[in-house]
Amino acid sequence: MDKAAKYQCGPCGYIYDPEKGDLDSGIAPGTAFEDLPDDWCCPVCGVSKDMFEKVYSRTQLIAVSDNANVLKLRLRVRLIGTEKR
Ligand SMILES: [Zn+2]
Repeated sequence: MDKAAKYQCGPCGYIYDPEKGDLDSGIAPGTAFEDLPDDWCCPVCGVSKDMFEKVYSRTQLIAVSDNANVLKLRLRVRLIGTEKR
């Protein structure tokens, strides 16, 4: 589980940052999104936790695109192999 993951509110765009917590709602800094109480809601627009989506950091996005490149490369190798036969 990614404890430092940020989550963004779908309707209003508010971002919950575990490093900062949500002091207005009594959430201490360092509280992971997963550890927020089920009745916690967006401090800006008031929607519930399930309206939030995980925000991927830059390094995570790079890791994901690296994986995609490796897959494309494998696919290309397979295609070239097929052509030769
Ligand atoms: Zn919101």
